[in-house]
Amino acid sequence: MAVTKSVLITGASRGIGQQIAVQFAKQGAFIAINYPFESEKENAMQTLHEVQNRGSQGQIYEADVSNLAAVEDMVKKVKMDAGSIDVLVANAGITKDKLIMRMTSEDWNQVLQINLTGAFHCTKAVTKEMMQAKKGRIVYISSVIGMIGNAGQANYAASKGGMIALCKSVAKEFGSRNITANCVAPGYILTEMTQNLPKEATDQFMSRVSIKRFGTMEDIAHAVLFLSSDQAAYITGQVLVVDGGLTL
Ligand code: NAP
Repeated sequence: MAVTKSVLITGASRGIGQQIAVQFAKQGAFIAINYPFESEKENAMQTLHEVQNRGSQGQIYEADVSNLAAVEDMVKKVKMDAGSIDVLVANAGITKDKLIMRMTSEDWNQVLQINLTGAFHCTKAVTKEMMQAKKGRIVYISSVIGMIGNAGQANYAASKGGMIALCKSVAKEFGSRNITANCVAPGYILTEMTQNLPKEATDQFMSRVSIKRFGTMEDIAHAVLFLSSDQAAYITGQVLVVDGGLTL
């Protein structure tokens, strides 16, 4: 079954990834919904229902992005189901916030392994197919924290800053094959990831946001759709900051 556009979204079982899936579904794309573990299958199924409710096709794919073999296996299956992979959205991410004095090597490695190495694994797996097709779009979900840093988030900031460097390198390496790579750098977005932050931290963020509200998952999804569209064909290696003015 070949479809005109297929999109692989990592970490699409909830949050921003789920919303990106919903917005792509409105365009009739085939949506490959990645989730990390069997225990999260139900959430991934929920994303699939949301996609199907909008008249699109899709499928769920279990793979921990920190495991290259699992990612390669997932990409093979997506290619078989969808016919091609036109867009990769490297969205999967975690936080393990601690001040450096308390951060263990395990806290550091786990965040880097999922956020940054996971994005590398997905890039490595999809670019083979995109090079053959002589087209492709990669959008990395980075963070403004990867640009400005944050106390208590050294591991997360390093992983998200690393994604920006990865993105620029991918843009240079694959540009001649008509593959673009860009980052979306969200500011403070209302999701499960941010709902447990202390009130003091959220108040501090809000005082710096020019547009006096926190971002929504739709705000991020719309930026991803733009960078994946034909209208963005000549944009590559860029970071689109979607933060309501937080970092101005
Ligand atoms: P979220 O609600 O915690 O969702 C994260 C997603 O990643 C979940 O679907 C999660 O699956 C998945 N995931 C975690 N580890 C994975 C792994 N090893 N392999 C595959 N998938 C994995 O987070 P979110 O707020 O939607 O954030 C999505 C992305 O945006 C992240 O990269 C985050 O860093 C970035 N971001 C968020 C904000 C914000 O304010 N929320 C700001 C800047 C950047 P499970 O459901 O199984 O855990």
